[in-house]
Amino acid sequence: MIVNKHNSLLEIDIISALTDNYVYIVHDKVTGATCAIDPSVAEPVLQRAAARGWTLTHVLNTHHHWDHTGGNEGIKRATGAVVIGAAADAGRLPALDIGLNDGDTIEFGSHEATVLAVPGHTSGHIAFWFSSDSALFPGDTLFSVGCGRLFEGSPAQMWHSLQRLRCLPDTTRVYCAHEYTLANAQFAVSLDKENRALQRRLQAVKKLRAAKQSTLPTLLGEEKAINPFLMADSPTLQSAVGLVDGDPVQVFAMIRRRKDLF
Ligand code: ZN
Ligand code: FE
Repeated sequence: MIVNKHNSLLEIDIISALTDNYVYIVHDKVTGATCAIDPSVAEPVLQRAAARGWTLTHVLNTHHHWDHTGGNEGIKRATGAVVIGAAADAGRLPALDIGLNDGDTIEFGSHEATVLAVPGHTSGHIAFWFSSDSALFPGDTLFSVGCGRLFEGSPAQMWHSLQRLRCLPDTTRVYCAHEYTLANAQFAVSLDKENRALQRRLQAVKKLRAAKQSTLPTLLGEEKAINPFLMADSPTLQSAVGLVDGDPVQVFAMIRRRKDLF
């Protein structure tokens, strides 16, 4: 694992919120900097931070949906945390302080996150990549064995966004914003029947969910081999949706449509 210049990795806590959302708290031991990523609610996040002896200094939003921003105002009021999100969504991110664009970096304590614009689920959606910690927060763009629904973007946009994330190192741990893995894996197996790695993931996920445990983070290297939405340019998925040698955008659109109806 790559370690940052201060030789310490970020601590990452996972909080279940609402029905199936995850809020992540990321803490830098060196400086005390602590951020909440996509806080759907304020109180449970404040409580967890307090229990760990941490004070929230930042809120990071991947996109404007209420189940990712509902806690912004409460956390800011309680802690004075700085709220950071996409400049493109300045009008619809509650309590936003700093708007960022693709390629911008965030100094977070002794660590740094890169902003990646990944439109498709929403037009202003961004992901946060802490490269020296091998940690990616893709919001509702990439899920384990799935991807977000296309509310404000086209299949071409989403496929492009997923290809950007697919280019990150295999060792990247992916902290998705929802626990959708079981349903996603059941759908994926219906398309990609011979994929042994996918079958193993489905079995592992069934056990984890039966024990009420999280299936996240997931490893990007594994997702590349089991997530149908990252494989729209593979012959297996092309033939699975009846588009042999098909254009990856059309194949992606077809996989997405089938998932919406599954
Ligand atoms: Zn969303
Ligand atoms: Fe969401």
